[in-house]
Amino acid sequence: RWQATGVNMVHIPHKMSSKTANAMALQHRPRKRFGQNFLRDTNVIERIVDAIHPTGDDHIIEIGPGQGALTKYLLPACRKLEVIELDRDLAAHLAEGLQKEEHFQIHQQDVLKFDFDTLDAEEKSLRIVGNLPYNISTPVMFYLLKYQHLIKDMTFMLQLEVVNRLAAKTGDKNYGRLGLMVQYHCQVEHLFNVPSAAFTPKPKVSSAIVRLAPHPTLPAPARDVNCLKLVIRTAFNQRRKILKNSLKSLVSEEVLNTLPLDTSLRPENLSLQDYVLISDAISNSDRND
Ligand code: SAM
Repeated sequence: RWQATGVNMVHIPHKMSSKTANAMALQHRPRKRFGQNFLRDTNVIERIVDAIHPTGDDHIIEIGPGQGALTKYLLPACRKLEVIELDRDLAAHLAEGLQKEEHFQIHQQDVLKFDFDTLDAEEKSLRIVGNLPYNISTPVMFYLLKYQHLIKDMTFMLQLEVVNRLAAKTGDKNYGRLGLMVQYHCQVEHLFNVPSAAFTPKPKVSSAIVRLAPHPTLPAPARDVNCLKLVIRTAFNQRRKILKNSLKSLVSEEVLNTLPLDTSLRPENLSLQDYVLISDAISNSDRND
């Protein structure tokens, strides 16, 4: 069933069994250490599901389903839904409610230890979603990038401040290591913001929805991605310094001067392509040593 809600069309799931409803209505004391802030605002939940826009062909992996706020909308709308939940009680309650659904599977596990290569998934097919625990959201994103060969897209709820950094463009005040390294691998789209009032308990920070889609082919491939990481880290460790000074320990001014870029700029004024040029010049000179 598709139903109009304001500007968007959202998919409303079929009626659930009372057992499922009981599982969802579980009396659970939120665990701070697991970053548990549960979505309660139906309009927000529907807007997120609408942004994900699940189809009957999709194989979706939800990270941290919690009490099923998103799960119950995703399940009837996709081909297969697998969820990864660390909290044993929450996983058990979800299992109790949803175990009869053939296309549903729970992995009661830490997502940071989950081997995505064990999933029965084709290249670039997985759609990853999650209202992520904010304390581990950056490690989760980098962990998932190791499996980008399997991933079609990722739609996450994150701290607004993190989304601003992820989506920052050259020259923005939030531009830095996180945005550059994620944009190296993915197209980043800041979709919309979510107020704290949409959650119970309310997080202290504002939130936003972001979509990360791994590039089909890297727009600016570096010869050595570890070298690129090092260049970016070194440059942004000394944000106030101009490039030729901050990179002294990594590359000679002579080599830098051969590149088609202005080395008297500060790190926030160089594009990803510029950083790749510098990184490749370093990897090249290492090879010639
Ligand atoms: N999806 C639910 C919602 O929107 O209401 C819950 C979101 S809550 C912010 C984060 C969820 O991630 C919780 O259910 C928490 O138990 C789970 N979680 C925390 N750390 C995790 C980890 N390392 N691996 C898998 N799940 C984790």
